[in-house]
Amino acid sequence: MATHISPQADRLSSHDPSTGDLVGTVPIHTPAEVDAAVARARVASQSWGALSFEARTEELVAFRKAIAASADELAAIIHRENGKPELEALTEVMMSLSHLAHATQHAPDAMASRKVGVGLLANFRATVSYHPLGVIGVIGPWNYPMFTPMGSISYALAAGNAVVWKPSELTPLVAVKLAEIAQKTFALAHLLQVVTGAGATGAALAKAAVDKVAFTGSAATGRRVMIAAAERLTPVLLELGGKDPMIVADDADVEKAAEACVYGALTNSGQACISVERVYVADAIHDRFVAAVVEQVKQLKVGGDDGHLGAMTSDLQVKIVRDHLDDAVAKGAKVLTGGSAAISGNYIQPTVLTDVTHDMKVMVDETFGPIIPIQRVASIDEAVRLANDTVYGLGSSVFGKHAREIAERLRAGMTAVNAVMAFSGIPGLPFGGVGDSGFGRIHGDEGIREFTRVKSTAEQAFALPINMMSMNQPKNALAQMRGMIKQLYGGGVVAKAGDFLRKLRG
Ligand code: NDP
Repeated sequence: MATHISPQADRLSSHDPSTGDLVGTVPIHTPAEVDAAVARARVASQSWGALSFEARTEELVAFRKAIAASADELAAIIHRENGKPELEALTEVMMSLSHLAHATQHAPDAMASRKVGVGLLANFRATVSYHPLGVIGVIGPWNYPMFTPMGSISYALAAGNAVVWKPSELTPLVAVKLAEIAQKTFALAHLLQVVTGAGATGAALAKAAVDKVAFTGSAATGRRVMIAAAERLTPVLLELGGKDPMIVADDADVEKAAEACVYGALTNSGQACISVERVYVADAIHDRFVAAVVEQVKQLKVGGDDGHLGAMTSDLQVKIVRDHLDDAVAKGAKVLTGGSAAISGNYIQPTVLTDVTHDMKVMVDETFGPIIPIQRVASIDEAVRLANDTVYGLGSSVFGKHAREIAERLRAGMTAVNAVMAFSGIPGLPFGGVGDSGFGRIHGDEGIREFTRVKSTAEQAFALPINMMSMNQPKNALAQMRGMIKQLYGGGVVAKAGDFLRKLRG
């Protein structure tokens, strides 16, 4: 376990999961301290939200540059707290920066007011405008301790909000470092604050007087967050787990698909909400595909400075993976590499399983580990049916010449076509799922607007001879109304209300 809270302690300590060494300690913030942080953020949000986009952009660019200048230090903290290899940690920093840059650049357009059609009220002008919500509570996970929260924080800040962020108790130090950078960069003192602690601190943030809670983590905790937020009717954005399927059709490039599968299932030791968690392969190429995957997996090194896979972040996660493997083997799965017996401490050897079925946990529950379960399918219809046989619906991937059409049939928030996970690296694409994977969207224009209040304005532009919004109607109003309904909506094409009203009254 990377974290330890001693009884009656007011601090929690973060440990390196690969060695058990202490990385640092952080305070355990009480609910009263969380409320105080939210109150300070409220003040900051009023000034920040009132700034022009140009002024906010200037500060967000300075924040981006300061993060880039500290990239190595941030990556080193992620590497030590989370256990992932340094290259993956630095990739995480780079991807976070790409989202911050995108959100900064696109907020003015995404939040630009727009005119909409006026329907019956032809003498009106109608406008939709977008305004900052105020204070956003962000509750982040440990698997991508910087990238995932920054996927909410960047968009929330760019939309003109202040943020209070509760990082996972397993990985609090990277958040503390980012808050330090924010403190030094932004003119406003409390624009991005971090509160640290365990679940209770997160629960306090969900209950606090924030304008939205953006949560990333398990479906079980997401439910608790939603229930806590319901007390104040605070809206929530839930980015929960996934059981992402990969489909490989018989006309796919087997080598390419195998390479993508190995990456998609094993990057970050499989501890990603959009990991490839299960693979359905057409009968005709199944054996070749499995051989290619096994061949590539055997080249990988676990642990050490040059390891492809690092230590798992938590003991709990190792237990879950072991349980899924043991369950699969007991029900008839074949282990081609790795396996439960090869688990040593927090290190799990990448494991390829075949002969798996949906009776096994490894095919239906989120494993969140370096496991590649591969199921043979007789047809694409069967692959689609099995891929959609899940309570989740986050990411997915399809390989083959007709992958695009197959992708349309998947019930998932996102699909990569002849690729894996790519949708998370494209900042313009909204990110999120359906079902137990949650709702709401981060990233893209949708991710910016997720942190805004939508305002509808109807303004009378000119007077018409007939005024429907008056109690003072002519005697023949009923007949006119009947005529209008018939004329406007009785035909194939909906006539313009303004033209009709003018004609009616001469
Ligand atoms: P959780 O969902 O419990 O934790 C996510 C975040 O929620 C952490 O910051 C956690 O804080 C916080 N939290 C915990 N309890 C509460 C609460 N009552 N109210 C508000 N916030 C709370 O994830 P776990 O670490 O328990 O991981 C369990 C499983 O979740 C994994 O096996 C994986 O399947 C899934 N998961 C999915 C992720 C994703 O990216 N979608 C990310 C992480 C996990 P603290 O850590 O301090 O307890």
